[in-house]
Amino acid sequence: MVATLLNQFVRELYQTNGFIPLHAPAFDGNEKQYVLETLDSTFVSSVGKFVDDFEHKIEAYTGTAKAVATMNGTAALHSALYMAGVASGDLVITQALTFVATCNALYHMGAEPVFVDVSPISYGLCPKAVDTYLTENAKVTEEGCFHKQTDQRIKAVVPMHTFGHPVELDELVSVCNKWNLILVEDAAESLGSFYRGKHTGTVGEFGALSFNGNKIITTGGGGVILCKSEDDGIHTKHITTTAKVPHPYEFYHDEPGFNYRMPNLNAALGCGQMEVLDSYLLTKRHLAEQYQSFFHGSEFKFVVEPEYARSNYWLNTIICPDTDTRDEILKITNDSGVMTRPIWQLMNRLPMFESSLCGDLSQSEFFESRLVNLPSSPVALLK
Ligand SMILES: *Cc1c(COP(=O)(O)O)cnc(C)c1O
Repeated sequence: MVATLLNQFVRELYQTNGFIPLHAPAFDGNEKQYVLETLDSTFVSSVGKFVDDFEHKIEAYTGTAKAVATMNGTAALHSALYMAGVASGDLVITQALTFVATCNALYHMGAEPVFVDVSPISYGLCPKAVDTYLTENAKVTEEGCFHKQTDQRIKAVVPMHTFGHPVELDELVSVCNKWNLILVEDAAESLGSFYRGKHTGTVGEFGALSFNGNKIITTGGGGVILCKSEDDGIHTKHITTTAKVPHPYEFYHDEPGFNYRMPNLNAALGCGQMEVLDSYLLTKRHLAEQYQSFFHGSEFKFVVEPEYARSNYWLNTIICPDTDTRDEILKITNDSGVMTRPIWQLMNRLPMFESSLCGDLSQSEFFESRLVNLPSSPVALLK
């Protein structure tokens, strides 16, 4: 019954009888003009003015010391973790309730995730749960923080701002300081989300943004590493651009580098998208308000931003009263062309992470079985 009403409601919001995607991009600003400019200039690849412009726009918007554009968000995370000093054999604390990219980046560095529970307030990594896990399982020596059972070094903490809702960053910073760990934020979903006035991804030493096609704005494929210190930013740019030492014609590379640069073609799209970001944020907030009033007084809880935050409302989300109701909503909406999705399966259930170390995950399991994402494209013709 609710599912049928929801179908009607979403169709009215988007004013269409056709298929309604979860999150589709829109290019109604200067995107086309900028992309054509790169073609005319022939600078479509890893060097060009739009890459610099895009990085500067991100710096101005987020307030980070330095933004380094990459080919996707996973590459941004990989570079950020590398810069944070994560190395083969290390453990990294993160949430089980996340998209797989967070863990893939770790895996390919030879590091291993430790899964800790999420917070009922933020849906992202819970500071109390991290502190409890460390109190039970870790020790700090002169060389750093180590796992008591495995003797592995615990190097970093990687929270993810789930669906754009900022985690409790001040508390996580305190836990990281107490245990001598580096904070790296997976802010792939949270461009436009602020924690107590600070942009997500700028509180930790490093942050990673994604500009994949389904994110709030897109570069086709793309990412950005947010660097808290200017020096780290310069070094990050160096390692993501093959670590080539500038010279008019010689090839000399002074350390192992990545080729993770964002092409100018993609950055052109990003420059156009940055110009419309503020209007998308307003539209998405309006959309969230409409969903919130639709579900008001029902047995479904509409997920709202934590009181300390301003969220981008990337994906609108409800918590269903139980798994059967969730399954019914998913079936009826998807059958009629209104795209909804369950949340990701917990990372510790995937074959490559099933033997990873875990803390208590009861809050993550609760959300895993009940959360549903609703259509959230910013292009709604909202009344
Ligand atoms: C989208 C996303 C990424 C990775 O971004 P890509 O650009 O697709 O590589 C990483 N983490 C989370 C949580 C994401 O949602």
